[in-house]
Amino acid sequence: MTTLAIIGAGIAGRSLIYALAKSKKNFSKIIVFDSDQFTQACSFRSTAIVAPRGVSSGHSDLGDLILKGLETFQSHIKNDHPNGVFNITQYTGAVSKLEMFKKRYPDGEGVTQLGSIILKNEIYVAQESAYLIDPKLYLNWLKDQSHKLPVEWKNAFVTSIKKNQDLTEIKTSSNETVLVDQLVVTGGAYNRFWQPRTFGKPIQGSYFEFHDVDLGAESFSLTLEGDNIVYHAHTKIMLMGSTTLDLGHVLPERQELDRVYERLAQKLETSLPSLKTGQVITGLREKAAKRRPYLYRDNNIFWLGGLYKNGFSLSLHLAQDLVGQL
Ligand SMILES: Cc1cc2nc3c(=O)[nH]c(=O)nc-3n(C[C@H](O)[C@H](O)[C@H](O)COP(=O)(O)OP(=O)(O)OC[C@H]3O[C@@H](n4cnc5c(N)ncnc54)[C@H](O)[C@@H]3O)c2cc1C
Repeated sequence: MTTLAIIGAGIAGRSLIYALAKSKKNFSKIIVFDSDQFTQACSFRSTAIVAPRGVSSGHSDLGDLILKGLETFQSHIKNDHPNGVFNITQYTGAVSKLEMFKKRYPDGEGVTQLGSIILKNEIYVAQESAYLIDPKLYLNWLKDQSHKLPVEWKNAFVTSIKKNQDLTEIKTSSNETVLVDQLVVTGGAYNRFWQPRTFGKPIQGSYFEFHDVDLGAESFSLTLEGDNIVYHAHTKIMLMGSTTLDLGHVLPERQELDRVYERLAQKLETSLPSLKTGQVITGLREKAAKRRPYLYRDNNIFWLGGLYKNGFSLSLHLAQDLVGQL
């Protein structure tokens, strides 16, 4: 039996562990390296909605992949009932270019109110079934599913990986050396420091988190011309954002976030929580060429990443594909 290592325990790494737990693959040992010593997981800093967003098949490779990912995710939720994933409605609203918008969202219906949030009359709102994810709950649930596997979770930062005869040698910042047969790298935006192929760049995303907000509504996600309000009814937390900035660091551009707040406030009849009470959360995601996620093999090392804005809908689909190749 062979040994496997995984670098990174965000949604990609944990979906892989979950897919392995569901598969018939046997490893004598699986070691997961994950550390926030120099990096941080984007998956815990994500608005984490899975919705089709008007994507239809047959128009682009990426659109088709997103739809396949969505199908995989839907059947996972239906069959496995994971903790931290909630069925919600995604409301998407537009004021301008309505003709184009209605082509993308043909099944739209007008909505004017979501709990205490009242939308201005001129906004056309479409609805779709979607999933809201509480990253902490869902990521912990995925981790718990590995209890039957011979997994060792190492809180260690990997500083080098290299070929050593038929094996891969992994070194950590505490000078530990581990040799494994196979390695999968799911280090998110930090894959770029290792990859043999140059693919993507890190893109910063940030949003406000408002606590103790009671909207008197079920959980929902509302997108108004690119700006989002996500309401977690189970924790009474409202997320608002998010920005998309071509920056390789996590220091947020506060002005950009304030503009999101202003734009949303202008589209509502009701007032939003005070800006002063919003905590800023920032994540780094990896945008690969043509926004397309990648999964490829280089000798005994697999690379999975470039999940960009679709990490939660695509990870399991790609992980299942990867397990088939191990
Ligand atoms: C503001 C924002 C909103 C978003 N909204 C959505 C959304 O609505 N829906 C959606 O599907 N996606 C969304 N995304 C995207 C999604 O969050 C990401 O695609 C996803 O989290 C990426 O997951 P990952 O596992 O690839 O990377 P990460 O979650 O970043 O995990 C990588 C892990 O690897 C670790 N690591 C890296 N290098 C090393 C090393 N050398 N040694 C040890 N550990 C290492 C890191 O510390 C981290 O823990 C959003 C992202 C942001 C920032």
